Amino acid sequence: MSDTIVIIGAGQAGGWTAKTLRDKGFTGRLVVVGDESWDFYERPPLSKSALQQAQPPFSPLFSAETLAALNLEWRRPLRAEAIDRAAQEVVLSSGERLRYDQLVIATGGQARLPGREWQAHPRVYTLRSWDDATRLRAGLSAGQRVAVVGGGWIGLEIAATARGLGKAVTVFESQPRLCQRSVDPDVSSGLLALHQSHGVTVHLNCGAVTLDDQQGLALIGSAATEQQAFDCVVVGIGVTLNSELAARAGLKVAQGIVVDARGRTSDPAIFAVGDVAQHPRLGLCLQSWAWAQNQAIATAAAMRDPQAPEYDDGPWLWSDQYGHNIQILGLPGVADRTWIRRQPAGDVYFSLDERGRLTQLVSFNDPRTVKLARRWQASDRELDPAQLVNPEFSLMSLK
Ligand SMILES: Cc1cc2nc3c(=O)[nH]c(=O)nc-3n(C[C@H](O)[C@H](O)[C@H](O)COP(=O)(O)OP(=O)(O)OC[C@H]3O[C@@H](n4cnc5c(N)ncnc54)[C@H](O)[C@@H]3O)c2cc1C
Repeated sequence: MSDTIVIIGAGQAGGWTAKTLRDKGFTGRLVVVGDESWDFYERPPLSKSALQQAQPPFSPLFSAETLAALNLEWRRPLRAEAIDRAAQEVVLSSGERLRYDQLVIATGGQARLPGREWQAHPRVYTLRSWDDATRLRAGLSAGQRVAVVGGGWIGLEIAATARGLGKAVTVFESQPRLCQRSVDPDVSSGLLALHQSHGVTVHLNCGAVTLDDQQGLALIGSAATEQQAFDCVVVGIGVTLNSELAARAGLKVAQGIVVDARGRTSDPAIFAVGDVAQHPRLGLCLQSWAWAQNQAIATAAAMRDPQAPEYDDGPWLWSDQYGHNIQILGLPGVADRTWIRRQPAGDVYFSLDERGRLTQLVSFNDPRTVKLARRWQASDRELDPAQLVNPEFSLMSLK
């Protein structure tokens, strides 16, 4: 068994890996390399409560006592620059070489920008880290006109939060609909209606959005709009996964780092967890809180016991917008048809395949149905659309 385990990346997945290794009895040297200065933390609050309050408290993943009990050797803020697989060493930005018996890559991703000029503009922000949220909070307080570039989940959450702060918000989406990659057209329409009903201006079909400077303000132009000046521009157009370290070390990388259902990469001494690890069955990176936590826990357990249960859960994520809790379970299929159940608390969208099996459920404020839907998916249950859309019909009778 290992004497030294090195974890690269001190985010949510890195944190759960460290904690689980200790919970499972690992008593050896556990070294965590992180390029942020903070203890492990979760990112979902960054686009929600961390922007709403003037001085939100930093909320770590683990209490101070739990963290101390993990007995970690920190290397921070430092970057892992290379992995020398032959020597089983990680090379740090400080020049130190850390020998490992087992290595975990938990490097997540970084927010993308449309071009280099965006990085230099003082009114442009991205949101990935606690430090980004601190900067964005200041940016949001600097003026009224806020542009959100990108109508995906993070962009829409920022739009909703900025509206809650009383800002005039304009969303620029390159595609014909919101959240195009993750939900079907009916859900996109529901999201559009939600944002418009809260006074957000949404421009679709924007193509590549342009940035110019107008005396310090950001001028945003697009295929669908005239140029417009903004006090604050937040870009939420997706993430570049931090997989280059793995690729340079010769590990198999596709969309993300290729791992099996126990988190093992193409090198048996190296594991990958969280956003940067590709789902073993679906062949894509889920980039969600649930995957970052549960796949990391399962991987750490398997590092201690190669026969530990495999982890293969499908996609589940949530988003909070305007006080609505939106949960997304599964992925939409190309041949699916979507059925909408209209309820007083919020709509529920069921995407069914040609055999009536649920491929994706999107629920507004209905966590009970999400729970139930997990069972339907697990048992491959055939569903009757007439029952699903009838608000008089109790879905609980389909337990
Ligand atoms: C603003 C925001 C809101 C979100 N909201 C939701 C939500 O509502 N629901 C949901 O399901 N999911 C949400 N997510 C997604 C969820 O937070 C991520 O899936 C999760 O954080 C992934 O965890 P991770 O540990 O894999 O990566 P990260 O949390 O990104 O951690 C990776 C860490 O590794 C560090 N690192 C990278 N490269 C190196 C290196 N070479 N050397 C040292 N350190 C390195 C990074 O700086 C970072 O600290 C949200 C994400 C963001 C950014």
